[in-house]
Amino acid sequence: MKIAQCPTCGSDRIKKVHRQWSGEFEGRSYRVEDLEFYECPQCGERVFDPAAMRKIEARSPAYRAAHKIKRPA
Ligand SMILES: [Zn+2]
Repeated sequence: MKIAQCPTCGSDRIKKVHRQWSGEFEGRSYRVEDLEFYECPQCGERVFDPAAMRKIEARSPAYRAAHKIKRPA
């Protein structure tokens, strides 16, 4: 999957980053090592591809139910 434009602000500076991801959901924190996702330096939007989604869901099942993460159109 390739993203050339930020879905939120339209910036073409969005780029793939590779880092540890940590977050909190419904009071429970979780961490994902080596997560790849797109991040927009303009507005801070983050876009997760299906592989990244699966990694997050594996760490935080509640996330799956909530559909909190934006998917690219
Ligand atoms: Zn943006």
